Amino acid sequence: MDLSSKQTFYRKDLTIELTKNPIPMPEFDAEKLRFGAHGTDHMLSVDFDSKKGGWGKPNIHPFRNLEIHPFNSAIHYAMQCFEGAKAFKGTDGKIRMFRVKNNMFRLKNSCKSLALPDFDGEELYKCIEEYVKIDEKWIPPIRGFSLYIRPTVIAWEDKLGVRPADKAKLFVVFSPVGPYYPSGFKPIKLFTETKRIRAAPGGTGNMKVGGNYGPTIPISQNAEQKGFQQVLWLWQDSILEVGTSNIFFYWINEQGEKELVTPYLDEGTILPGVMRDSILALTRQWKEFKVTERRITINEVVKAAQEGRLIEAFGAGTAVIVCPIEEFNYQDNTYKVPINPKKQAGDLTYRISEIIQNIQYGDTPHEWAAIV
Ligand code: PMP
Repeated sequence: MDLSSKQTFYRKDLTIELTKNPIPMPEFDAEKLRFGAHGTDHMLSVDFDSKKGGWGKPNIHPFRNLEIHPFNSAIHYAMQCFEGAKAFKGTDGKIRMFRVKNNMFRLKNSCKSLALPDFDGEELYKCIEEYVKIDEKWIPPIRGFSLYIRPTVIAWEDKLGVRPADKAKLFVVFSPVGPYYPSGFKPIKLFTETKRIRAAPGGTGNMKVGGNYGPTIPISQNAEQKGFQQVLWLWQDSILEVGTSNIFFYWINEQGEKELVTPYLDEGTILPGVMRDSILALTRQWKEFKVTERRITINEVVKAAQEGRLIEAFGAGTAVIVCPIEEFNYQDNTYKVPINPKKQAGDLTYRISEIIQNIQYGDTPHEWAAIV
């Protein structure tokens, strides 16, 4: 890493101020623990001010509100980016973080896309390790549960001009979360959105910036009102993503081969998901079927469904690991995707979920689940 002095902050400068008023813990109950509803006792903050030479010292302090200037450019111009990762309490009682260095790398890229300051991802990772140890009791010691890690960088500029921020704030908060599916898999139906888009080539769809998410909410709401759980996002006739997850199809391709396929990472349309990368790496190792990243068109998927070549489809992301898809619509037609009724997921989808969880909870030792 060639960032010097105040071009980054350092773990060695971390200061810690422990809370005197611990927050009451929520019940670790799969049905009751709502995603993102509970903060933990502490948070991690670091401030950047170019007039003071750059980054200050990282600080772990009691969880508290931010006081924001009404001119703040994160509020006005979405000069904001974030990450989503997880820490787990393993079967052996050890804490593990799943591939969080990848999230540091993606956060740095997102910062760059907004002219927010760069930093050393290794140093942020080490600060998060300390923070996880301090708030360890907030990691539910139950398979399926985890501690969601939300690093965020926002402009801290208090002038209304649309310009690079001289000041920024990086903070990390945690939230204990339960299993995405409290009682086993629940396959979803997709609404293929043909009029509005989430991302386009040359855009910011490959960055985790807040501005990508807000405008999708009414579109998802519209799909939900029609009885679909998620939106299938297209760019022209190319399939991009599903809701806030990457998408995979497992099929017999037109050449008659078994193939797992996901859209390739072009410039600006697809978020390079950590789970996407993990699934590609895992399944490539198996050498059981072809694994491909390429452009996929909606017509290809419709044709595969019509010809009975579609074996499975699933979304993939940190929150859900994998999310079975049982149906999608396109231009007023409905297409079914096979599901194993006993598992409420396809066999491959189910297998991936089990393997990833075994890694996350330390049942299968793996370099992706780093012990804290
Ligand atoms: N696509 C989008 C748009 C997302 O917001 C996410 C969640 N970060 C993903 C895909 C999945 O990424 P990951 O596997 O890193 O959670």
